[in-house]
Order: sequence, then structure tokens, then C-alpha cells
Amino acid sequence: MNCFLCLLCFFVAILYIGRSLESEFDEQWMRQALAAARAAQALGEVPVGTCIVSENKLVAVCGNRTRTDCDPTAHAEIVALREAASKLGNYRLTGVDVYSTIEPCAMCAGALIQARVRRLIYGAPDERAGAVTSRFRICDTDFLNHRIQISVGVLEEECRALMQEFFQTRRGRIVD
Ligand code: ZN
Repeated sequence: MNCFLCLLCFFVAILYIGRSLESEFDEQWMRQALAAARAAQALGEVPVGTCIVSENKLVAVCGNRTRTDCDPTAHAEIVALREAASKLGNYRLTGVDVYSTIEPCAMCAGALIQARVRRLIYGAPDERAGAVTSRFRICDTDFLNHRIQISVGVLEEECRALMQEFFQTRRGRIVD
């Protein structure tokens, strides 16, 4: 009985350590995505940032570039997926983790499915256009063959604050 309990405690401890290590890594990578979002903001872009990680190594970190590139598809996630695929020499990004400051839209969620990424971790939900948990559930729908593991709410406050600040400033400018 004692031995069984010891074994149980051991596995619970391993699980707990594993979980807290994972969330520590998640925060560390989300900070990289946040830095990219701030850099995008400095260029007048909507402040969304994405970083892509493979085997605990950074593969790509990008911000929104729609205005800069005059390209409606140049959302941070798409730009980062293109860069990662090019660097890894494979259009399938199996085993790759994607960190985004804001919940991806329908276009980006579709692209994440096409790329076959392993995990999606995002900071704040986008209640208006989010296609992962808010408006649609593209990344884990039963209708598609590939399902992505989803983690929500990593550094949520910081990610949300950046967007709110951006839109408040823009609204202020329009009123002026
Ligand atoms: Zn998008």
C-alpha cells in the first residue's frame, strides 16, 4: 500500500514539474512574440506577434506586416509560418509549436492546420474574429484530419493590453 502511494506521489510530482516547466517555457517564448508585436506596433501595424519553436529552439519570430508589405495575408502567423517552412526546408511543420499574442483569425488558423503544427499557444482571445475558441473552432474541429493542441491565456493581460492601447490611440487620432 505504502509503495503504491509512493509511486503515485512520484508520478504526480513528475507530472507537476513537467507542467510547471512547460508553462515557464511558454511564458519565455510568448515574451519573444510580444517583442515582435511591439516592433510591429512601432511600424504602425496592429500589434500581433508570433514566434515558432521547434525542439525548444527559436525558428521564426515575426510581427504583423500587412501595411508594411501591402499584403492582406501578411498576418504575423502567416509571415512566421513562411519563414519557418523556408528555414526548415519543409512545408509541413510537424512537431512545431506556434506562439501568438492574440487568438488567430480564420485565415491563420487554416494555415496552422495546413502546416500540421503540433501546438498553438496564444495570449488573449479575439472575441470578434478569433477562429480557435471564440468564433470558430478551426484548430480542433472533428471535420479535419489534423488537430492542434491548444493552450490559451499565456501572458494574457500583457497581450490584451497591447491591443487595447493600440486601438485606443488609433480611435483617439480619428476623433482628433
Ligand atoms: Zn490572421
